[in-house]
Amino acid sequence: RAKQAERGSVARYNRGVSEEIRGRVNLLHNLRGAFGANELFLVFQPQIELATGRCVGAEALLRWRTGDGMLIPPDHFIPLAERSGLILSIGEWVLRRACEEAARMAQAGHGAVRMAVNVSVIQFRDPHFLGRLRAAIEDSGVAPQQIELEITESVAMGEGDRMIELVGRIKAIGLDIAIDDFGTGFSSLSQLQRMNVDRLKIDRAFINDIGGAGKGGEIAGLVCGLGDRLGIELIAEGIELGEQAARLQAMGCQLGQGYHFARPMPADDWRIWLDEHAAGRGARLILD
Ligand code: C2E
Ligand code: MG
Ligand code: MG
Ligand code: MG
Repeated sequence: RAKQAERGSVARYNRGVSEEIRGRVNLLHNLRGAFGANELFLVFQPQIELATGRCVGAEALLRWRTGDGMLIPPDHFIPLAERSGLILSIGEWVLRRACEEAARMAQAGHGAVRMAVNVSVIQFRDPHFLGRLRAAIEDSGVAPQQIELEITESVAMGEGDRMIELVGRIKAIGLDIAIDDFGTGFSSLSQLQRMNVDRLKIDRAFINDIGGAGKGGEIAGLVCGLGDRLGIELIAEGIELGEQAARLQAMGCQLGQGYHFARPMPADDWRIWLDEHAAGRGARLILD
């Protein structure tokens, strides 16, 4: 009887696993279809200079709205796209779409506003990545100086000298480099210095930690000190409170991004927001 019960639970376990696999295969099947059916789109979240309230950039973030209207967050489908290799085509599409939008911003008089694009480790390992990057920039007509690539800290540090060389080549084309989710990985400070990056994005977890009554924010403060010593600009992600913005500015952090300033917006809303913000109406952001 014990054996039977055991067999029963193994069968149940197998059923559970195969259901999970079936779920993944389905999602992957749907993701391939979604890519073909234009269900993927970008939203744009402003990046603000804390001292002035000026918008100096935007981060392009990927969204998937399924045929039946369900919004699937990138954390759910990007890992799957990475494992299947589909991220190569999706990532190239993101890059092209972001360059296009940046070129359009320049035409509307916002050529000084940067566009930040998240790039997956799988894309960086692709031998054709630099070629695809150059083509996306040329085809869109955008100035390379307007584009910034975001590399997570673990990818930037985990890929050894190859990454230092690749970053050098990307910078030689004229793009900026930001290290995303900074503080969550393990940085080699000498490698960071050799990489010559433009910006460190302090991870949201450390911004979250900045509470009322001047509490918290120790790690954010340390990262700000590091950026200052290395001459790397700092941007805080996930600022939700005015007090966090004020504390970060006092710590020497130059830029911020988060719901306190604006949520990520679809392209139409982003274009209107940027026009209005540049016209001065956005200056209230900081004072509120
Ligand atoms: P990330 O690059 O660190 O992006 C920041 C995330 O924080 C975004 O989530 C953004 O919507 C969210 N966020 C911004 N401000 C706030 C705030 O004030 N409070 C809170 N709670 N959240 C805030 P999202 O859009 O869900 O993206 C999650 C992650 O998915 C990104 O993290 C990035 O790693 C990845 N991702 C998104 N788009 C792409 C893409 O096009 N390519 C690749 N490879 N990865 C992407
Ligand atoms: Mg990012
Ligand atoms: Mg980030
Ligand atoms: Mg993050």
